[in-house]
Amino acid sequence: RSFAEMPLDGRLLRAIAKKGFEKPTEIQDKTIEPLLKGRDLMGVAQTGTGKTGAFLIPLINRLLSGKEKFQVLVLAPTRELAVQIDEEFKSLTAGLRLYSQCFIGGTNINRDLQTLRRSSHVVIGTPGRLLDLSQRKALRFSDFDILILDEFDRMLDMGFNKDVQRITVSMQKRKQTLLFSATVDHKQKGLIDQLLRNPIEVKV
Ligand code: AMP
Repeated sequence: RSFAEMPLDGRLLRAIAKKGFEKPTEIQDKTIEPLLKGRDLMGVAQTGTGKTGAFLIPLINRLLSGKEKFQVLVLAPTRELAVQIDEEFKSLTAGLRLYSQCFIGGTNINRDLQTLRRSSHVVIGTPGRLLDLSQRKALRFSDFDILILDEFDRMLDMGFNKDVQRITVSMQKRKQTLLFSATVDHKQKGLIDQLLRNPIEVKV
């Protein structure tokens, strides 16, 4: 199956082709259509499987369709991962007037405060910096409609459990949640069940 056989906007198909993606990876093949419909997702996948495209492609398509208006928050455990997601979003939306912002620790927070004066469709960041920005009232978690938790197992390993809880309690009214993890053990299961609503489960 090709991307062109999926119900995707022509502008997005061109951006995908320009990146050199010839056909969907397995996780993309399994998740793009349910995510276009707004389903929650439990995705068990490692880095390198195309998981970033799996969540960005359907979200970009929905933003392009103009039928819904929503803002997306992406939580990543590391600065490197946050930057990679931001770069993938920017390359898939070049010239399409869709915007992302990326906020990570170890950078000048005054620049972030400046950036936040403008609106964006997607905010990507590490939990610590995002909480800092929220405490400074520069960012409000309740403004976001869709939550993506990437590398969730790593987020917990790095001690972000409390931070994630603090962020998600302010997002009770969100309409969609996607969670990606390389591994799932029973210790995480309770928390995952709390975060997701009737998710599709995809393992690659
Ligand atoms: P990820 O698992 O999201 O970190 O993606 C791993 C790498 O695969 C990244 O460099 C992506 O740009 C690339 N990639 C994602 N989807 C595809 C695809 N359908 N075809 C070829 N490469 C892809």
